Amino acid sequence: MTKRIVVAIDGPGGAGKSTLARRVAEKLGCVYIDTGAMYRAVALWAARLNIDLADMPRLEQLAEAAEIRFEAGSSRVLLNGEDVTEAVRAPEMSQAASRISALRGVRRALVEKQRAMGAQSSVVMEGRDIGTVVFPDATVKIYLDADPRVRAERRVLEMRLKGVAADAGEVASELRDRDARDTGRADSPLRQAPDAVYLDSTPLSPEEVERAILKIVRDRTSNGKEISQ
Ligand code: C5P
Repeated sequence: MTKRIVVAIDGPGGAGKSTLARRVAEKLGCVYIDTGAMYRAVALWAARLNIDLADMPRLEQLAEAAEIRFEAGSSRVLLNGEDVTEAVRAPEMSQAASRISALRGVRRALVEKQRAMGAQSSVVMEGRDIGTVVFPDATVKIYLDADPRVRAERRVLEMRLKGVAADAGEVASELRDRDARDTGRADSPLRQAPDAVYLDSTPLSPEEVERAILKIVRDRTSNGKEISQ
């Protein structure tokens, strides 16, 4: 008999969650869900509608109304049918997403959508609160961390590879701000679930982290044979 699994990957920005979650999902044949992109998508929609980031009721409405989909087999994110994969990665969306993600109503709406996605198929879901709040019973929970300096360097490299100008000092301070907001907020702060496996990716290559995560998944799921897509 096959069963659905949820692999939850949480951790701070720049720890390598997106790269790893995407690779692990591909290897396991699961759907990859980037929950940060969902907060970014709502922030993008709010910016386009000129909604103030302090306007809680309207932001909550937007989060509820947003139709967010991830294309199976790719890492593209669609907002109300439009491909916003690149648009949500703009640096100003990082800060805006971090701000709106502190709002209880926005979180409630997006967590509901995330749970529905996990109820439909096996998923590798990455974010800040997947193992603690969204899926406290996830099959596997990973807390992926890395040295703040290395996280900032990785982010700069990622931006430059995409042709986005990046100042190392600014990126480091932006990551610090977001870390402080994400760990300090009252609702669903970033923290390691007590039953999550802590992985420090600082000295590891993506291949090594991927192997470590796949081993943990296989140990928990009789070698992956029971995973239903
Ligand atoms: O992961 P990413 O950097 O794209 O996330 C953008 C912002 O969305 C984070 O800084 C965080 O504030 C928020 N977020 C969150 N909960 C999640 C995923 C992201 O609060 N599960």
